[in-house]
Amino acid sequence: MPDDNGLLSSAEKERVIAWMQKHETGEFVCPVCKKKDWLIGDHLVQPITLGQKGSVQFGGIGYPQVMFVSVPCGLTIFMNAVIMGILPGSANREGEKAAAVAQPEEKANG
Ligand SMILES: [Zn+2]
Repeated sequence: MPDDNGLLSSAEKERVIAWMQKHETGEFVCPVCKKKDWLIGDHLVQPITLGQKGSVQFGGIGYPQVMFVSVPCGLTIFMNAVIMGILPGSANREGEKAAAVAQPEEKANG
């Protein structure tokens, strides 16, 4: 779980690297510049989730992602942070396989 500033710890980045080493079957080469020089973003990011009739959903469930940034060219690839074990997943709807979604933490705001 990222810290209060949303930064991934070095231990979490090590877990990301270990997960990649366990799951990649070939070399993790950038499809644009053909280099293998990646950095892991300091923060998780999340695409905006769309709801009914394409409405933009602020808050609620989402799909948090780990960023891999190609240092030479800047291409950024996202990997699901729940599947990678960086964040816990939310409860699945019945009958679904593991949903790669997370609920935002409840925070006391005023
Ligand atoms: Zn590249």
